Amino acid sequence: MRVLVTGGAGYIGSHTLLELMAQGHVVCVLDNYANATPTVLNRVRALSNGQITDFVGDVRDAKKLDEVMAAFAPEAVIHFAGLKAVGESAQKPLYYYDVNITGTLTLLHAMERAGCKRIIFSSSATVYGEPQYLPYDEAHPTNPMSVYGRTKLMAEQILTDWVAAHADRTAVLLRYFNPVGAHPSADLGEDPRDIPNNLMPFIAQVAIGKRDVLEVFGDDYDTPDGTGLRDYIHVVDLARAHVAALGYAAVHNGARPFNIGTGQNYSVRDMVAAFEIASGRNIPTKQSPRRAGDVAAMQADASRANAELGWHATHGLDDMAASTWAWQSKNRNGYDTD
Ligand code: NAD
Ligand code: UDP
Repeated sequence: MRVLVTGGAGYIGSHTLLELMAQGHVVCVLDNYANATPTVLNRVRALSNGQITDFVGDVRDAKKLDEVMAAFAPEAVIHFAGLKAVGESAQKPLYYYDVNITGTLTLLHAMERAGCKRIIFSSSATVYGEPQYLPYDEAHPTNPMSVYGRTKLMAEQILTDWVAAHADRTAVLLRYFNPVGAHPSADLGEDPRDIPNNLMPFIAQVAIGKRDVLEVFGDDYDTPDGTGLRDYIHVVDLARAHVAALGYAAVHNGARPFNIGTGQNYSVRDMVAAFEIASGRNIPTKQSPRRAGDVAAMQADASRANAELGWHATHGLDDMAASTWAWQSKNRNGYDTD
């Protein structure tokens, strides 16, 4: 299929481009480089020998989208472009609503004008909020606890309404759990611009010596070791879920959410221990209070994605830690290493 990938230069988008091209899809990227660098696409090209058409532009720019649609004529769109920092979303709510909601609306308008009827959307497990039971299945009530989470849920609702208005439209809503890890080449990975918000890139920066100590946020949760439990998923598995979703969208109509996780969960201490083994380095930690808005535990019931998308996670914790370390040690300063 001809696939427009918004935000394709980002962490998950770049890995997905490689998996799409490996399966014979033709890709085009629209990215404004708000949180990425053009180096990423050069590396994807080098890894794939693939042809990538790319446009620099904002997903809220209707004229630019019309230009992209006219030039590339996508049969489907994978919509990664957006803002994702939970803490920042509380400080800059209008910015988050603008990029994540206006961006999605502007994209749908452009798709409609161009007659493109399939969209795969980057949603998040954060739409569920405080667990009423675990693992979360897709029927779990949604009650996001942050501005960021609300933008994801609202975008899901907009997509669902857009699809309901016409029998031949499809929206696949992928609710990601915690993406970690890097491409096996160690040439693609997560490259946070500032102080990492997320656990794995923070651990990696401590291991490489860019940060002194990992703060462990809370040790008094009702979990086996008192630290938070998350369902970490390798980014290559996550990338492959998009390829599976595209196959699903080719033969199904309607809007459908899918959990994309492994069904396992690990504590902060498990992640530190796995990283120490992978890197052979000691990761100093310091106990800190709970981080506002964190839940004790999250875990996916991914059985719907397993059954209906024919997708399964195959990478375990060791690979998540080892690939992150390989990426971090080969690229001390991320993509600025080039
Ligand atoms: P990322 O920041 O690495 O990638 C997002 C990409 O979108 C970047 O390349 C950025 O430059 C681009 N972008 C941002 N605003 C844009 C705009 N207005 N117009 C065009 N391009 C724009 O993030 P990621 O981790 O790859 O996440 C991709 C998507 O998945 C996001 O929508 C995010 O909310 C969602 N998601 C991420 C996680 C996670 O933990 N990484 C979890 C759940 C969901
Ligand atoms: N965490 C931590 N120290 C950090 C970053 C995260 O202890 O510097 C914990 C956090 O409290 C949570 C887990 O690690 O229990 C995963 O956090 P992350 O921000 O990576 O993901 P999310 O909170 O979005 O699930």
